[in-house]
Amino acid sequence: MRAIDFNLPAELKFNLDTGITTFRDNRLVLFDANAIGLLRQNLIESLGVAAAREFFLRFGFQNGFADFMQMKIGYEFDNEIELLASGPVIHTWEGIVRAAPGELRMDRAKGEFFFTGTWTNSYEAEQHLSFNEKSSEPVCWSLMGYASGWATAFFGSKLVAIEPRCVGRGDESCGWKIQPPAKWGDEAKPYVDALAKF
Ligand SMILES: [Zn+2]
Repeated sequence: MRAIDFNLPAELKFNLDTGITTFRDNRLVLFDANAIGLLRQNLIESLGVAAAREFFLRFGFQNGFADFMQMKIGYEFDNEIELLASGPVIHTWEGIVRAAPGELRMDRAKGEFFFTGTWTNSYEAEQHLSFNEKSSEPVCWSLMGYASGWATAFFGSKLVAIEPRCVGRGDESCGWKIQPPAKWGDEAKPYVDALAKF
């Protein structure tokens, strides 16, 4: 199976009798993006950007890690690159962002991993800009967390995704770059630290 052949809508089970919606072993809940945006903004205003960013990075990480495990257990992909590439596909199906992979370099024996791509229509950048002026930093915290969690589950050791560009700070599109924590410099410390407990 190729990544692009994965069809999330066909895999969801809705049940009016139980009120439980599932994707394989995971229960899902559907929320209005504006409601999540308001929750996010309330966290920013009550606890500050640093704390809100941490929460959303971890929230995203958990989501990406859990999705990966379902994909790995539940489907036979042609090879591990297709399995990895199914991350951007399911992220897109979930309505979070349109994710298009770019460059991938990986050497498991050497612990090397480098993966980039482009994000468009990020719901989180939209929500951030609906409440705030343009930021000086990337704002798609849950997306970075998701990509980190997905890639970490795939690779078997910690990987951290950060946006080199983000609509939330005025760039034309968002994008991801994923690599091991040791490859990142000081600018990545808040992201690496937030995910250190996983
Ligand atoms: Zn962004």
